[in-house]
Amino acid sequence: MSKVAVIGGGIVGVAAAYELAKLGEEVVLFEKGYFGSGSTFRCATGIRAQFTDEANVRLMKYAVEHWERLEDELGFDINFRQTGYLFLATSEEEVEAFKANIRLQNRFGVPTRLIDMDEAREIVPILNTEPFLAGAWNPKDGKANPFKTLFAYLFRARELGVDAREHTEVVGFEREGNEITAVKFRSNGKVESVKVDTVLNATNAWAPIINEMAGLKSDIVPIKAYKHQLVKTEPLEKGQAEPLVCPPGWNDAYIIQDGEDGGVICGAGIEHEAKSLSDVEPTYDFLRGVLRYAVMIATPLRYAHVIRQWAGFYAKTPDRNPAIGKLLDNFYIAAGFSGHGFMMAPAAAQAIAELIARGRSKVPLDWDWYDPYRFERGELRTSAFQIG
Ligand SMILES: Cc1cc2nc3c(=O)[nH]c(=O)nc-3n(C[C@H](O)[C@H](O)[C@H](O)COP(=O)(O)OP(=O)(O)OC[C@H]3O[C@@H](n4cnc5c(N)ncnc54)[C@H](O)[C@@H]3O)c2cc1C
Repeated sequence: MSKVAVIGGGIVGVAAAYELAKLGEEVVLFEKGYFGSGSTFRCATGIRAQFTDEANVRLMKYAVEHWERLEDELGFDINFRQTGYLFLATSEEEVEAFKANIRLQNRFGVPTRLIDMDEAREIVPILNTEPFLAGAWNPKDGKANPFKTLFAYLFRARELGVDAREHTEVVGFEREGNEITAVKFRSNGKVESVKVDTVLNATNAWAPIINEMAGLKSDIVPIKAYKHQLVKTEPLEKGQAEPLVCPPGWNDAYIIQDGEDGGVICGAGIEHEAKSLSDVEPTYDFLRGVLRYAVMIATPLRYAHVIRQWAGFYAKTPDRNPAIGKLLDNFYIAAGFSGHGFMMAPAAAQAIAELIARGRSKVPLDWDWYDPYRFERGELRTSAFQIG
């Protein structure tokens, strides 16, 4: 048994701590704020295998299967629901692109199919079908509650012995050669250190800071934080817009009815690079912009009251794919999830935990595709389809 420090108490770090403990590792988990306070508790709940490249389709096919058994495995209700994702085409070129994506997804067992607007209206009763030519529909995609999911992982991780510490910020490392030997952390104003065998950087938007602390160039994995926002309406009758509905041609705008209370969450690719890592102030421009799209997708939303608006980060790499793998002999990273870290977490966390504990993983994760050193080599991947 070795001692692993996991830095970052978002869904990726907490799930990785759980997976590592399951494999018999001794784990200490550090979170500088409260668990989930980074991007995780600000996400739009969406989970999809409808990606446009082989690596992400294969990873998410596996992840969705993991999500399907997660409630049983963790023994908590996490409100995982396979209510589907419906992408909508606004031009003939997009219909052709959808067909190509569907062929790719079907090749790896993802059951997406092209549907007409009559079927789309049956699935989403409030949909304004008029602007759209066709839909790409995968009923196996879905959503889950990020709060319940993180706390379920955390509860089971602690039960397995994980020493999970909130309000405890990692502030540095002790390093010998290519190895980290200890983690320095601040809690209640006091700096202490703990000897460790391995470190996992799961801090997403903050990952460059941690990489620099480890003696690496801060842009070895060039992650930038982009402010992304959501608004949520008052509850509607359930079943009005259960799937995530998105015309990608409309600035990646989307709506999805919250699986818990029936409010409709509305998002869009109206984004700005964050001014700082505390820049989570919602903006009026976003509110105006997103509501215009939401009403174009589903006209009845015009009559729904907005009850909340919030902001968080998409921690984006240049190719919108995360960095998952080894950076130093005993220093690993799983970060830069670029807007799809919640959905990927069960698979990515299992994969990195198995890599750390066993040196290999049974998750079909293409290590080369997500290699953290690909940016330094100038080998960018095809940009991952970004929308939540
Ligand atoms: C508006 C919005 C909508 C989204 N919608 C979706 C969606 O529908 N589906 C989806 O899959 N994803 C979505 N995402 C993205 C998703 O939220 C993230 O990819 C995911 O939560 C990343 O999880 P994480 O654990 O990697 O990072 P985070 O949740 O950001 O956790 C990182 C943690 O590291 C901690 N930390 C940083 N520095 C230190 C330090 N020095 N010491 C200790 N702790 C530290 C931070 O406090 C933070 O809690 C959305 C994001 C936003 C903002």
